[in-house]
Amino acid sequence: MNIFETFESEVRSYSRGWPVIFDRAKGSYLYEEDGKPYLDFFAGAGALNYGHNNPILKEALLEYISRDGVTHALDMGTVAKREFLESFSERILKPRNLDYKVQFPGPTGANAVEAALKLARKITGKEAIVNFTNAFHGMTLGALSVTGNSMKRGGAGIPLVHSTPMPYDNYFDGTTPDFLFFERLLEDSGSGLNEPGAVIVETVQGEGGINAARIEWLQGLAELCQKHGMLLIVDDVQMGNGRTGPFFSFEHAGITPDIVTVSKSIGGYGLPMALTLFKSEHDVWGPGEHNGTFRGNSPAFVTAAKALETYWADDELQRSTLAKGERLAAALGTLAEENAEAGLLVKGRGLARGLQFPSGDLAAKVCASAFERGLLMETSGPSDEVVKQLPPLTLSEEELEQGIAIISEAVRSVMG
Ligand code: PMP
Repeated sequence: MNIFETFESEVRSYSRGWPVIFDRAKGSYLYEEDGKPYLDFFAGAGALNYGHNNPILKEALLEYISRDGVTHALDMGTVAKREFLESFSERILKPRNLDYKVQFPGPTGANAVEAALKLARKITGKEAIVNFTNAFHGMTLGALSVTGNSMKRGGAGIPLVHSTPMPYDNYFDGTTPDFLFFERLLEDSGSGLNEPGAVIVETVQGEGGINAARIEWLQGLAELCQKHGMLLIVDDVQMGNGRTGPFFSFEHAGITPDIVTVSKSIGGYGLPMALTLFKSEHDVWGPGEHNGTFRGNSPAFVTAAKALETYWADDELQRSTLAKGERLAAALGTLAEENAEAGLLVKGRGLARGLQFPSGDLAAKVCASAFERGLLMETSGPSDEVVKQLPPLTLSEEELEQGIAIISEAVRSVMG
């Protein structure tokens, strides 16, 4: 690890928890330089829902590269973009009756969030946005202003303004009716709340601790937005692309957000790509009003289209994700029961799962023990107290069982 310690900034993080040198990757595994395999229950923080170097996507990519298909294209019209838009419209939007326009904002999740916030402000003429406790939306200033984590916010170095945090679902452990505080502030002309133009929410908070909002809470939020003329932005950067089962995580609740952000696994192969989607009536952008040099990452469009054609032509992936998610949750439930006194808590939806420990220290030890046994998992939550499982959706049942066995051994070794 010498070269990294010498030359790479102290800002690096994953190479600290996993101090080995990875070289190859295939399916659900990453391999160390010397060939040692690691079962990947991290999946590029949700960017590898179809696994590493997926052979079907790789073939499409190699074919595109070898015929000298355009690589870099800003927002020019290309065959790669046409085919992606056709697939996205046919496989995703039309079957779900979603009348969304597609914006390519630049290739990261934060780019998609910035575009969403700017658009919401332009549509409504209001600068105030409501976000939620423990939200995570990215590291750029706009995205950071609607992110909860105080360490990350501190990195901004300037005041992060024009956003107001409200309690996420179950913030008061079920003791307070949903939206009591939020609605009161909206209705009380003396509350001091700047009238919000939009609300931004994750249906399951990934970085915030795998907090899955209840379906009725999400529906209540959509109603509240409607009632008070606030746009609803769902940030599906981490929980979209089938992570919770359906393609969009909000499908569970049967709601239709005004604006949706998508990134991470949309490219399919781990290539950078992002989308900001919005109802067509909200398309108030002027030409070039929001841009970015890497909006047209064509190899990502090729693998994205191939992933949609391969995995979203039927509901097989969705069904297997839900079934595997239930199996994983049941196994975590057994571990929670075994440690009832410590109060371990099982969290999540679909194949976004978490096991909450009483402290970040214990969760870190469990991840370290799993790493020694050949499994990659990270922690999340405000105190890093949640051990988070985000395996590729394409993992086999044997790989799932293998992962469960390692997690169980790791928890038992740490909890005694
Ligand atoms: N939104 C959510 C919900 C995320 O989980 C993330 C990344 N973890 C982002 C936005 C930011 O994405 P990126 O790191 O690609 O900028």
